[in-house]
Amino acid sequence: SLEVIGQTVLVTGASSGIGQGIAIEFGKQGANVVVNYHSDEDGAKYTLEQIIRAGGKGFIHKANVGKEEEVVAMFNKAVDEYGTLDVLINNAGIQKDSEFSSMTLDQWNMVINTNLTGQFLCAREAIQLFESKKESFPEGKAIGNIIFISSVHDIIPWACHVNYASSKGGILMLMKSLALEVAPKKIRINGISPGAIATDINDDVWNDDEKKNQLLKLIPYKRIGLPEDIAKVAVWLASGDSDYITGTTIYVDGGMTLY
Ligand code: NAD
Repeated sequence: SLEVIGQTVLVTGASSGIGQGIAIEFGKQGANVVVNYHSDEDGAKYTLEQIIRAGGKGFIHKANVGKEEEVVAMFNKAVDEYGTLDVLINNAGIQKDSEFSSMTLDQWNMVINTNLTGQFLCAREAIQLFESKKESFPEGKAIGNIIFISSVHDIIPWACHVNYASSKGGILMLMKSLALEVAPKKIRINGISPGAIATDINDDVWNDDEKKNQLLKLIPYKRIGLPEDIAKVAVWLASGDSDYITGTTIYVDGGMTLY
């Protein structure tokens, strides 16, 4: 009943972590999945293998989400392959941590360009494709869905990560303003803001018991999250079962935002 069977889903940054988990979960539900990756081709191939093993279809596609021409080419490829696009999961993201006074313009620009501009570029291509569909307009369910993967740091400030927190705060308002703009066109836009999820982005923490225990103190539910925790919510949020939700962020964080 999740109604994503046969739908075409593009997941950015799907060669590892949360994006990989989401791409595989959509595969399990019978979707066609475009597995975007930046540099880790082996990771992307592994994601695709798991999708196919689970009964889904897909292909891998290399593109830097921060580069306009690469993003446009990727969406064109998705349409060549499957004729249309139904769901975009805007997931790719990076961290470049630094104390503020020594943060370089490069560290600032890299994070804003990948995390925020990358999500803008992908969303714009997806919206153009959704707007060219008319089939269920105006009475049926949504004709397209975008899910922005943000972070609890879209509302919790983060010292020494000002670039990252700024990019995520920006995503929150990008998501909400876009949701308002395209709701009358039957396009749904939502966000998922993960708490602490065990992936490569913060592997310095998972390999250090002291850092891990420090982190657990910030999580009321006393468990580190897994990519699957995000993936299940993403599939539901892109499905017809959540059709009346738009412009909302779901914090999947074991209660981290309660403190
Ligand atoms: P990750 O490092 O495993 O995944 C990030 C993915 O993005 C990688 O596959 C990487 O190759 C890809 N990527 C980086 N730059 C790219 C670019 N320019 N173009 C295309 N792809 C690019 O880490 P993750 O934890 O899975 O992160 C996924 C998303 O979740 C990120 O947006 C991150 O900010 C967010 N997030 C993660 C956590 C966490 O605790 N892990 C918490 C909150 C938010």
